[in-house]
Amino acid sequence: MKNVINCRCVKCGREYPAKPDITACECGGILDVIYDYEYIKTKLNKEVLKKRTESTMWRYRELLPIEEETEPAGLRVGMSPLYEAPAVAADLGIGKLYIKDDGVNPTASLKDRASAMAVTKAIEAGYDTIACSSTGNAASSLAGNAAKAGLKTYIFVPARAPKGKIAQLMMFGANLTAVDGSYEETFELSKAAIDKYGWYNRNAAINPYLGEGKKTVAHEICEQLDFIAPDYVAVSVGDGCTVAGVYKGLYDMYMVGLIDKLPRIISVQAEGCCPINTAVMSGEPWQPQEENTYADSIAVGVPRNPDKAINAIKDSDGICVNVSDDEIRAAQRYLAKKTGVFGEPAGVTATAGLLKLSREGRLPKDATIVSIVTGNGLKDIDSAIKSVGEPVHCKNDLSEFESKFGLF
Ligand SMILES: *Cc1c(COP(=O)(O)O)cnc(C)c1O
Ligand SMILES: [Zn+2]
Repeated sequence: MKNVINCRCVKCGREYPAKPDITACECGGILDVIYDYEYIKTKLNKEVLKKRTESTMWRYRELLPIEEETEPAGLRVGMSPLYEAPAVAADLGIGKLYIKDDGVNPTASLKDRASAMAVTKAIEAGYDTIACSSTGNAASSLAGNAAKAGLKTYIFVPARAPKGKIAQLMMFGANLTAVDGSYEETFELSKAAIDKYGWYNRNAAINPYLGEGKKTVAHEICEQLDFIAPDYVAVSVGDGCTVAGVYKGLYDMYMVGLIDKLPRIISVQAEGCCPINTAVMSGEPWQPQEENTYADSIAVGVPRNPDKAINAIKDSDGICVNVSDDEIRAAQRYLAKKTGVFGEPAGVTATAGLLKLSREGRLPKDATIVSIVTGNGLKDIDSAIKSVGEPVHCKNDLSEFESKFGLF
């Protein structure tokens, strides 16, 4: 890879060659992929992008850690819509608000970006089996992308994972284990199995390439905004890989000169499970917390990527905000009704954070903000129905219908 220099530990700084199956540093720290931005600048600019027809996450290939001759192996991921939402901007009292709807990806979450990268790298490295643990979406997206790529999967999810995600996993033919325990215990079991059997590891906090897939969401946001960087990008945070990826993508675009300032990250967690925001706000090292939120995708009491996440929030001069489950439920209904974008609970948590910051008067009047919807609401129908209630029931009788809606 001419565009990649090496992989560097975010904890101790030790450097490693960027082998396709590299995992974490000897010290346990997470690796970051280091790029040769001067070289990339000679290959990638606005004119090149304008002529490019590739309309997937691989559009920014010069900024991705794959060999020049590698064919991407997963589903059609990325280039999700960025909707301007003036009514939401008005409610928030800001200049402009955009919704980046990553729930439209093939398995309906942003995790497809990491999984498409994972299966591509697994094949580059010559593996036939790939494994991960996940709160649900990383798992279902890995299973779907692996099915497309012809790889076998071993997957571990907490038994609490919503049915929609389990249905996806079973349909895609994963060797699925629903672990009776927390996400932490799920992760530990997957780690023991992967260590023993030597499968390709799609655990995002261990495999440094996965965040490189996730970062493409930020590349797209920049291009969709005509390379004028927004002031803030809001994202929900669990393990911390997504927020770190978003920051990395913005950093890439800045380093190759495609945007001229770095947006500030708004990191949103659930009040009942917010170890990363707590660490940033207190300045203390992070501490494990209970997993007390119904937003299952971000119910992560022991974050696996706290270093990169905390760095991303701090380096961008970011803002942390925590929201209650009721605020998440309200944001889910609000966003769906106001914009037509139906996100799963963790998918709308960023927007819940913006609504809260606005109520607290913490959003500048003229700000341009992008809120990322990280997963689709159809993944978790039970909690959605609980939030909105049942529909009006009616016989085939016009007057009964009229009376139910007060239409006389
Ligand atoms: C995984 C996920 C997140 C958070 O990503 P992390 O890398 O765990 O911080 C947010 N929303 C959804 C829908 C997710 O699936
Ligand atoms: Zn290290």
